[in-house]
Amino acid sequence: MRAIRARLLHVESTGTLRWKYLEDGVIIVESGLIKEIVDAGQGQRDGLDLSQCEDRRDMLLIPGLIDTHVHSPQIDVIASYSGQLLDWLDKYTFPAESRYSDPFYAEQSAHDFLDGLIAAGTTTAMVYVTSHEAATDRFFAAAYQRQMRMIGGKVLMDRLAPANLCDDAKGGEEASARLIKDWHGKGRLGYAITPRFAVTSSPEQLASAGRLHKAYPDTWIQTHLSENHEEIRKVSELYPDITDYLSVYDRFGLLTERSVFGHCLHLSEAEISLLATKGGRVAFCPSSNLFLGSGLIDLKVLREAGAMVGIASDVGGGTSLSMFRTLGDAFKVCQLRGYSLSAMEAFAMATLGNAELLGLDSLIGNLAKGKEADLVLLKPKPESIMARRVGLARSIEEELFVYMTMADETLVAETIVNGVTVGRRND
Ligand SMILES: [Zn+2]
Repeated sequence: MRAIRARLLHVESTGTLRWKYLEDGVIIVESGLIKEIVDAGQGQRDGLDLSQCEDRRDMLLIPGLIDTHVHSPQIDVIASYSGQLLDWLDKYTFPAESRYSDPFYAEQSAHDFLDGLIAAGTTTAMVYVTSHEAATDRFFAAAYQRQMRMIGGKVLMDRLAPANLCDDAKGGEEASARLIKDWHGKGRLGYAITPRFAVTSSPEQLASAGRLHKAYPDTWIQTHLSENHEEIRKVSELYPDITDYLSVYDRFGLLTERSVFGHCLHLSEAEISLLATKGGRVAFCPSSNLFLGSGLIDLKVLREAGAMVGIASDVGGGTSLSMFRTLGDAFKVCQLRGYSLSAMEAFAMATLGNAELLGLDSLIGNLAKGKEADLVLLKPKPESIMARRVGLARSIEEELFVYMTMADETLVAETIVNGVTVGRRND
C-alpha cells in the first residue's frame, strides 16, 4: 500500500466539465489500484496517520496522461527539416522505419520510446509501430515488462512505399492475427489494427483489415485521415469510385466506434456527419499539424457535429512527447480558428477525455476509486521561469495554463505506473 500526500487534481466528468481539486489531499493506492482520495484534514480526523504518507505537498498529482496517436519508431526522425507530409514520409520516415527490420534495434528503440513517454508523464498511448511483425512483437514485450497500459499495432502497407517496408494483404493479415493472439488482452495491452492510410494500402489490404476487426471486434483500428491536400487528392485518384476519403474506410468496415482517425483536418460536411453518425474517433495532433503545415482543425465544428475528439502528439510529425506541450499547441491552433481552449478543457482531453475516446474510462483517466494507479507528479524545476510564473498563479486553472503553455518533460517530477514509481527526475 502507498499513501501519497500532494495537491490532487482530476476531471470527474467531461460531458458537463466537472473537476475536483484538493489543495492538501492524500491518495491511497493498493495492489496497483486507487483505493481512495481524501482531504488530508478529513482523513486525519477519520484516523489516517499523515506521518505515514509520502510527502509530496510541493507537487501537483494528476492521473497519467494519455496520447491517442504516436509513432514509436519516429523518435528517430523527430525534428527533421522537410517539406509537407508526403515529402517527409519519403525523405525521413520510411528510411528510418526500414531500420526496424532488425529486431534488436527495434527492441532497444521500444525501450527508449517507453522511457520517453514515462519522462513526459504519458502512461497510456495508442502506438503505430512499423510494418515489421518482429519489431511490433518487441514493442509489446517491452510494454508488458513495464506493466504499462499500451495499445499498439503493426503498420499495414502493401504499396507506394519502399519494398522493404511493404507487406501484402494476406501476409499483413496473418501477422496481425498472430500479434493479436499473442498480445491483445495480455496484461494491460491491447491491439490496434493499423493500416497506415488509404494511400499505402490496396483495396485488398483495407478489406483484410476490416475482416480482422470483424474477427476480433474488441481490438481497435487506427489510421490517418484527411491530413494533407496532396494526400486527399491521391486517395481520390486511387479510389476513384468512392465518394470521399472517409467513405473509403467505411466501405471496408473500418469506420467504427473503435476507430481512431489521426488528423481529420479537411473533412467535408458529409464526411463530418458520417464520422459522427458512426462514432469514429478523432485524434487531434496540433504539434504535427503545425510542423508539417497540414492545416488547422476546426475543433468546434467537429464537436458540434457530435464527433468525439481527443488529443495526440503524433511524434515524429509532432515535435514533443509532452502532452502538456501538445495542449499548448492545441491552444494556439484553436486561437487561429477563433476558439480559446480553456486549460481545464485541455487537461480533460489529455486525461479522462482520451480514456473515453479509447473506451478505457472504466480503467484509467482520473483518480476515481478502483481505477488503475497510473499517476504523475508535477513540479517545475526549482529556480526556473516556470516555477516563478506558477508561484504567481492565483488558481489551479491559471497554474494548468502555465504548464500547457511553458512545459516540456522537465515539468514531470515522478511517474507512477500500476502503483509503482517508474521514473523520477533528479533535481
Ligand atoms: Zn501519424
